Amino acid sequence: MSQIDGRTVIARSLKQQGITQVFGVVGFPVFELAQVMQQHGIQFYGFRNEQAASYATGAAGYLTGRPGVCLTVCGPGMVHAIAGLANAWANCWPMILLSGAPDTYQNEQGAFQEAPQIEAARPFVKLSTRPDRVMRIPAYLEKAVRTATYGRPGPVYVDLPNDLLTGQVDETKLEWPRACPPAPQTCAPAAAIESALAVLRGAERPLVVVGKGAAYARAENEVRAFIEATQLPFLASPMGKGVVADDHVLSVAPARSHALQEADVVFLLGARLNWIMHFGLPPRFAKDVRIIQLDVAADEIGTNVATEVALVGDSQAVMAQMNAALAARPWSYAKSTPWWQALRGKIDENETLVTAMMNDDAVPMGYYRALREVRDATPRDAIICSEGANTMDIGRSVLLNHSARHRLDAGTFGTMGVGLAFAIAAAIIHPDKKVVCVEGDSAFGFSGMEVETACRYQLPITFVVINNNGIASGVEQLGDPVLPHVYTPNARYDQVIEAFGGKGYYVTAPDALRQAMREAVAHRGPTLVNVMIDPKATRKPQKFEWLTR
Ligand code: ADP
Repeated sequence: MSQIDGRTVIARSLKQQGITQVFGVVGFPVFELAQVMQQHGIQFYGFRNEQAASYATGAAGYLTGRPGVCLTVCGPGMVHAIAGLANAWANCWPMILLSGAPDTYQNEQGAFQEAPQIEAARPFVKLSTRPDRVMRIPAYLEKAVRTATYGRPGPVYVDLPNDLLTGQVDETKLEWPRACPPAPQTCAPAAAIESALAVLRGAERPLVVVGKGAAYARAENEVRAFIEATQLPFLASPMGKGVVADDHVLSVAPARSHALQEADVVFLLGARLNWIMHFGLPPRFAKDVRIIQLDVAADEIGTNVATEVALVGDSQAVMAQMNAALAARPWSYAKSTPWWQALRGKIDENETLVTAMMNDDAVPMGYYRALREVRDATPRDAIICSEGANTMDIGRSVLLNHSARHRLDAGTFGTMGVGLAFAIAAAIIHPDKKVVCVEGDSAFGFSGMEVETACRYQLPITFVVINNNGIASGVEQLGDPVLPHVYTPNARYDQVIEAFGGKGYYVTAPDALRQAMREAVAHRGPTLVNVMIDPKATRKPQKFEWLTR
């Protein structure tokens, strides 16, 4: 009879479930657990705060299609990580949070960092649970992986009391479930495929909207083939960018508002009609717009606007069905239609306006000029992380994506503070790629200490801080009282990374920015380019106010 403890069973279970990386912060009672994980060949990445670790974990789930795993201490550590659960829940990303808890026999006695952790996690997860004994840990962790990835992806919480971690079990009596296979791919009924194609064929002003559900499903080849075969105009959601390249000739991104407002048929491909898509309602959409909706979650169908054709299934499988049906009866949308002419007209108009702003040599710089230099220095296959109100919104149109799952941003939850964590996750998962993380100065501050994490692991990330001295706008000098939205003017974020051995650049003019970006991107380790812009710089005038109330 050989006895092993709960920690060893957890490490073996994770390994067996194909988990190779864990993000977190150690302390009581998971200090030894992280070491046992390492002894079992799992890479453990220590962060400076559980919030950032949990954000990174959600992103890892999105990028890999397997749940990311986060490990935290009990009480405050677990509570910090709820931020990551909520972010993953809002974005439909698979992740598992494992948090330590005090010994169960001390419950209700005021134990060290005792908290109602299972209840606290519950609103943001698909499953919130605690293994009842050491013997059953493998079954619970298999269920955690399955629940996180099957159906609509999402987060799972598993509570790990100290007596479970240290409890012993006879190794020979353990039962190991199989490694949970990838989620089964579900298809739509053939009649629904034919209906969807019939609606598209009959449309006067069709539009395809590609969302991050298509990216998560790895449907890029199928979606590109469909768009090229049908010649339909398409738009991407913020993280749907790159499923089909932003510079594809059929992209109508520069005419986004017009395309959404005037389309008579919208094919939603792994995207929701939530605030990002203006709820699918007037004035941003036509009143009687007809919706074809592809989603893995049946209960998403019909949200806010009645769906005419529902394609419930996996994006990759359903788009393969669409392509097969199309091949059997080929059809494409004519290039010479008034719809295409109107879209092209809008694209030209907007591009002229934006190009002028991108070429403006004035100092201090505006957003467009600064972001153009970032764009020009960013390798085509780089992963771009972005956050901050103006920086992210303007960056969405200026910074281009060419591949699926190469853009991570504040997402459905609009979370600020995710950028550094996402960049770290992306660099760990894709060690062969450059990661460029473009943030506003206020967004950077939420998780700024994670530059130490990037330096400790020598990750090839270029952080770009677009610095306007505050939230949304800033001031040149602090007044009295200090206004709520302003931060220290000309803060030297570049010196923060230098404290940990990274390379920092401080720039105020376009030429210096170009040079700094070139050097930073070529550098093999972490770099930070602190770009001073006009504190009053804004976005180009918009037809609709933000959130269109
Ligand atoms: P975006 O922010 O890009 O518009 P959303 O997060 O709003 O995207 O929507 C993504 C949708 O994709 C969700 O409703 C989710 O249920 C769905 N989804 C997730 N995985 C798949 C999949 N494999 N196939 C189809 N849809 C998926």
